[in-house]
Amino acid sequence: MKIVEPKYEILTDISEGGIKELQQIERVARVCYKSEDKITPDGESAKKLVGFLVKQGHEAMLEHSQLSVLFTCDRGVANELIRHRIASFAQESTRYCNYSKEKFGGELSFIRPYYIPDEPKENTVKAAFSTEELKKLETDYQINNAWYRACDEAEEGYRALIANGMRPEQARCVLPLCLKTEIVVTANYREWRNIFKLRTPVAAHPQMRELMCPLLMELQKKIPVVFDDIYTYWPADDQTRKGSMVK
Ligand SMILES: Cc1cc2nc3c(=O)[nH]c(=O)nc-3n(C[C@H](O)[C@H](O)[C@H](O)COP(=O)(O)OP(=O)(O)OC[C@H]3O[C@@H](n4cnc5c(N)ncnc54)[C@H](O)[C@@H]3O)c2cc1C
Repeated sequence: MKIVEPKYEILTDISEGGIKELQQIERVARVCYKSEDKITPDGESAKKLVGFLVKQGHEAMLEHSQLSVLFTCDRGVANELIRHRIASFAQESTRYCNYSKEKFGGELSFIRPYYIPDEPKENTVKAAFSTEELKKLETDYQINNAWYRACDEAEEGYRALIANGMRPEQARCVLPLCLKTEIVVTANYREWRNIFKLRTPVAAHPQMRELMCPLLMELQKKIPVVFDDIYTYWPADDQTRKGSMVK
């Protein structure tokens, strides 16, 4: 069994300052106002116009854009992502991938949620801890152990089903939600704005936020005009108390 870290990768090239992308939206939107004569080649008119569109709520113009992001996450997070109906998806298939094959190292990959503590180190010198710290160490151990055992048993069950002639699409029934998956989400900027508004607030699932907040922050740097009005509490917030993934 392999444990992998959740991450995202922006697959779409974004020009310096997002100028080309903004100019594409500007070209389209100026048709509405017949103000093509106001286009300036340096991109300043595009920034101004797109900023105005976002402020006005004229977001339909943002639909003339596309952004693909590859997420490595667990099946639980992926299940939430695919609820976004305006987006398009390509996801690693548990029907066609046979994780018992050499290609996958003959093992399953899982995402360990950050709230499941690391396995305590074997050489921990217990005498150096207070009673309270020891209690916490014991709880961490129990949580880590329960999670690890559940994954290990799922992997064993999957292997046994495959070994007894079942196809991956049949054996997958024993796999847990923390199974690692890869999923490409392609959507226009309007839909990404909707996704960020729903998936970055503290009400969203913490593992979803762990990916979406840093992604939003990166896009705010790359194409500020389109995304910078969406506020996100990250890295510090009351729910996750987790450090940012942004280096
Ligand atoms: C905090 C949180 C908790 C959630 N809990 C649950 C839960 O317990 N159970 C559950 O089933 N789901 C849950 N969801 C998922 C939620 O119900 C939505 O399916 C998901 O957030 C997608 O939202 P959306 O419809 O705005 O987005 P999209 O599907 O991406 O649609 C984008 C926008 O297009 C418009 N649109 C799309 N389709 C239609 C339509 N048919 N009619 C009119 N307008 C449309 C809407 O304006 C919509 O906002 C939860 C989501 C969040 C963020």
